[in-house]
Amino acid sequence: MKNRLGVHAQVWVGGWSHEEAARAIASTASLGYDYIEAPALDPSLIDIDFTRKELEKNGLGITTSLGLDDSCDISAGDPDKKARGEAHLMKVVATTRDLGGTHITGILYSGFQKYFTPATTEGVAGAVEVLRRVAEEAAKSNITLGLEVVNRYETNVINTAAQGVELCKRVGMPNVKVHLDCYHMNIEEADAERAIIETGDYLGYFHTGESHRGYLGTGSIDFTKIFRGLVKANYQGPICFESFSSAVAGQPLSGILGIWRNLWTDSTDLCRHAMQFTQAQMKAAEEAQAIRTGGDW
Ligand code: MN
Repeated sequence: MKNRLGVHAQVWVGGWSHEEAARAIASTASLGYDYIEAPALDPSLIDIDFTRKELEKNGLGITTSLGLDDSCDISAGDPDKKARGEAHLMKVVATTRDLGGTHITGILYSGFQKYFTPATTEGVAGAVEVLRRVAEEAAKSNITLGLEVVNRYETNVINTAAQGVELCKRVGMPNVKVHLDCYHMNIEEADAERAIIETGDYLGYFHTGESHRGYLGTGSIDFTKIFRGLVKANYQGPICFESFSSAVAGQPLSGILGIWRNLWTDSTDLCRHAMQFTQAQMKAAEEAQAIRTGGDW
């Protein structure tokens, strides 16, 4: 497999103090991961110089992720929220650039929250406009934006891969891609494998996560299909493992995601297993593809 593998920082830590950043980075690197995904809901909490030094010391890459809060909701059709959201996203671009990051992903196009009414045409048009300007800024630093397709309880803008592709097309920038997450796909897609294949070249980032957000392979997600989809789509981008337990409580993320149960306590064991599981699943999917397409007879 060619994909770079990462883990979400909240498998290790709930915040980003010096102690937490150093521990999350060293732990991720020690298991052989290529990069860490750091939450950037509030980028001002990240000490850039300290974090960059720790990354360099450990030979680790970084991506950032976030969802916009309601006051920064660029899809709301509210000029003040739109302006605040654009400024916030630009700050995340600057922070990610200074960290040496490659991707900014997540709910970059709306609030990261439960909505009670559908998105509006005007609101989404405003989000598209902002995303285009943010993408232009990100492109100067070779940063890709991943618009994460999430379930209905976390946004009202894009809940399916097809909607994600549509939004990417509307933004129309080469560094704006669809970010799929099998935890969300398990809720919204009719056929996750097909959805991944149909996303095709628009796919730019992928989250693995189990249906209950615990150990991979212990819930109801059909990972055989997920990885076969990634191989059939010839996806070669980053794959980041996400898992959340009340054992690591980081607010506001844990609260928004509804992390009430203690699904694991040993982060090292969880992440070591996730890497083995991901490599084994990818290998099996690649071999299945070879059987389908190859052979000397
Ligand atoms: Mn995700």
